[in-house]
Amino acid sequence: MDLDVPSLLIVNTLLQIVAALCLLMAALSLPRQAGLTYWALSGFAQAAGLALTNPLGWLPPWLTLLSSQFLIFAGYGLAYVGVLRFLGRPTREAGPILAVGVVLAAMFLWFTLGAPEDRGRVLAGSLFFATLSAAMAWRLLRQAERSLHPAATVTAGIYAVWALLALARAGWALVIDWNGTAQEPQAMTVLTRLIVICVTTTVTNGYLWMISRRLDCDLMQQAREDPLTGVANRRVMWAAGEMEVSRALRHHRSLSLLMIDIDHFKTVNDRWGHGTGDALLVAVADTLAEELRRSDVLARVGGEEFMALLPETGLEDAWSVAERVRRRVATITLDRPQGPVRCTVSIGVATLGPDGQVWDDLVGTADQALYRAKDTGRNRTETLSLGPTMPERGSSHPVQPLILPGWGA
Ligand code: GH3
Ligand code: MG
Ligand code: MG
Repeated sequence: MDLDVPSLLIVNTLLQIVAALCLLMAALSLPRQAGLTYWALSGFAQAAGLALTNPLGWLPPWLTLLSSQFLIFAGYGLAYVGVLRFLGRPTREAGPILAVGVVLAAMFLWFTLGAPEDRGRVLAGSLFFATLSAAMAWRLLRQAERSLHPAATVTAGIYAVWALLALARAGWALVIDWNGTAQEPQAMTVLTRLIVICVTTTVTNGYLWMISRRLDCDLMQQAREDPLTGVANRRVMWAAGEMEVSRALRHHRSLSLLMIDIDHFKTVNDRWGHGTGDALLVAVADTLAEELRRSDVLARVGGEEFMALLPETGLEDAWSVAERVRRRVATITLDRPQGPVRCTVSIGVATLGPDGQVWDDLVGTADQALYRAKDTGRNRTETLSLGPTMPERGSSHPVQPLILPGWGA
């Protein structure tokens, strides 16, 4: 092969420096993403190790060899800890694999100083890279964060291929004829160097891909979610509503909307403080989510207002759902030192008529029904239908709004 090892080493070193700088920039600009600093440090440790591999002549050969190789070993250790941190695992889980790494590094030391032998060094070094790379591949493959797919799987694949090649190199070192010299054959060194160059570049891209996938999904989540309660926000409800209305009209299916408003919520805040008000909002959202089907869309659309969109649900069923929800919410109790905190909700139900309506009509009708529930005493469900044939109804039994002492009516 015409490729010469010193030139390949220079290319490898430069690529590793660029990779480390990219990871450093990512780590500095995204301080809340765990693991990135470890990856950047890993990149610099490996770059320093590779730079030292080019013998400049001012260090004894054994010291050059050991310092360069141990820096690269340290780089792999840091990369493994970085993978664990990035995946949210505790650093201590790196212990067993790092212990195996230390044993293999000690083997390398022995074959450098104790009984100098190239074959032993290649064996120890290759087994080290195979172990650490296989561990990283395993961790990335087993991780359950959906947003990281397929970046984590591809990065795992790169590490797995590298682990297999390193293992093959260890096997090769055992069986080949070393021609009676203590030198690694040129072809093997060149091939290893080429593979390491590929791994350096692809793995760094894999890291950056995983980071961007996670950020992308975080942003999408933030754009869809209400940060306090975790349910969907108004944007999601409006998008789902418009789609479900057109689907229901096209396929002649029923569709209902519940507009749910907590009664006298301002008084809760005034009396118990905003912290308790927030906790009550979370409890109500959790209860609503529990009571609704997975195919329903629940969203917080205002301060203490929620909407639930019920596909394939007619007036009677929507009414039953609303009443069930209303009764469940009335059982919520937050224990506070000053006494229990409870609340009730008023619900306006609207059902899509046979034709000619749009989403805004459904929202407007549910709103009117809600106003009627508020006007007629709160802690009630009122329905209004957009179609001419649908009956309208209010809570079938008289209900008392829950007024705690000191509340305004
Ligand atoms: P009604 O029975 O007529 O609905 O009365 P209400 O007090 O519930 O309605 P009003 O619109 O007068 O007050 C709503 C209150 O909701 C006022 C506001 O301070 C509170 N609020 C809005 N968003 C939040 C929030 O995120 N957290 C908390 N704690 N309170 C909020
Ligand atoms: Mg209210
Ligand atoms: Mg309100």
